[in-house]
Amino acid sequence: MSRPRKVHVKSFGCQMNVYDSNRMADALAPAGYIETARMDDADLVILNTCNIREKAVDKVYSEIGRVREFKEAAEAQGRRMLIAVAGCVAQAEGPEIIRRTSAVDLVVGSQNYHRLPDLIARLQAGEKIVDTEFPAEDKFDVLAAPAPEAIAKRGISAFVTVQEGCDKFCTFCVVPYTRGAEVSRPVEKIATEVERLASAGVREVTLIGQNVNAYHGLGLNGVQASLGQLLRRLAQVPGIARLRYTTSHPRDMNDDLIAAHSDLSALMPYVHLPVQSGSDRMLAAMNRRHTRKDYLDAIARLRAVRADLALTSDFIVGFPGETEEDFTETLSLVDEVGFAGAYTFAYSPRPGTPAAEMERQVPVEVSTERLYRLQALITRHQRTFNDSFVGRTVEVLLEKPGKLPGQLVGKTPYLQTVQVMAPRTLIGSELPLIITGTGTNTLFGALAIERTAPAFATAGA
Ligand code: SF4
Repeated sequence: MSRPRKVHVKSFGCQMNVYDSNRMADALAPAGYIETARMDDADLVILNTCNIREKAVDKVYSEIGRVREFKEAAEAQGRRMLIAVAGCVAQAEGPEIIRRTSAVDLVVGSQNYHRLPDLIARLQAGEKIVDTEFPAEDKFDVLAAPAPEAIAKRGISAFVTVQEGCDKFCTFCVVPYTRGAEVSRPVEKIATEVERLASAGVREVTLIGQNVNAYHGLGLNGVQASLGQLLRRLAQVPGIARLRYTTSHPRDMNDDLIAAHSDLSALMPYVHLPVQSGSDRMLAAMNRRHTRKDYLDAIARLRAVRADLALTSDFIVGFPGETEEDFTETLSLVDEVGFAGAYTFAYSPRPGTPAAEMERQVPVEVSTERLYRLQALITRHQRTFNDSFVGRTVEVLLEKPGKLPGQLVGKTPYLQTVQVMAPRTLIGSELPLIITGTGTNTLFGALAIERTAPAFATAGA
């Protein structure tokens, strides 16, 4: 019997890349590829790259060097290994990747994953290919649907891309160039995907998009639907207990979406709302198109309908021209909002973005020192938020086994991780846990009611 062909997809960066990696594996399944967790054992290695972080391109080339060693070892054993580079670095670098390293066989842009089976077939004939054009067709229309076994393997919590691209052009960001203009999928196509996930046992769906709350997909009535309307439709899918969405822009936090937080019990009381800076001067230089007051107003409107809402954010410190006064305004914004957590970055220029050309770049030692101060403040707020749960009973969706024998890991509605000793049969259940303590990045809980069987049946279980 011939050996099945194996694909290993290594994902870098955000949840959108994790989702894309799954869809690439799904697209290759009909071509006879099965997924492998081992890179050295693969016939095809796909590096799904991210261009957001500092020195992303250098890191990709160093990872390609690592894969090339596996490729050479495979070839020494008479086995062919193909290397593909996908994602934002592929989109940005294009043919330069193959020029710099001949080990790479395929460079494929983020809009072209539906073409993978054809592209791989052409590679077998010895071609080297670069496919980074933005295509006329919608990749979601042609990407293969995941098989029920693939969904079950990925767990009870799934991401679904509903929107891609960005029209905002923040001056520090590469996304509008690597992912293109904002495009939204139609409501019913998303609903069909969520129904398929639910029938394979998924209980929680996070809708993802670079600018998810700018969603404006076609609704059933032929009119564009908002993210709030999409959420209302998905809340009707049987089996889906929890809905989330990320990442949002403050400008697109409209009344309809805020009302959904009040009306839909399945919509979790958690919003990740990047602000980047607390200084209006910096927000203008970043071309964020909102002020500090706009941001605080959006939060006040959200909290007016969900007082318990947990908020997280993204911050950039040391943006060109940032003074100590600007940075102090960021610190005061953190105190004013009381975030449950945040991602913090020291600014570093991305080639091709307007901010990379700006004068008054902040010295690295200054931005590093500010970053530490900001992180310390956010950690204090995160601890305060988490400590406030000790002694409370919270509904936790139990997701997977923990690191210790007999332990499960789940999530609160506020996206905190909880560890609990509980039988594996409870995976997929949403149960009340008493929070008994907190660790650095986790809560500890105990079952509020002793159970040994699932609280409900999950389809496909
Ligand atoms: S809104 Fe987000 S994705 Fe769009 S340019 Fe700004 S930071 Fe990038």
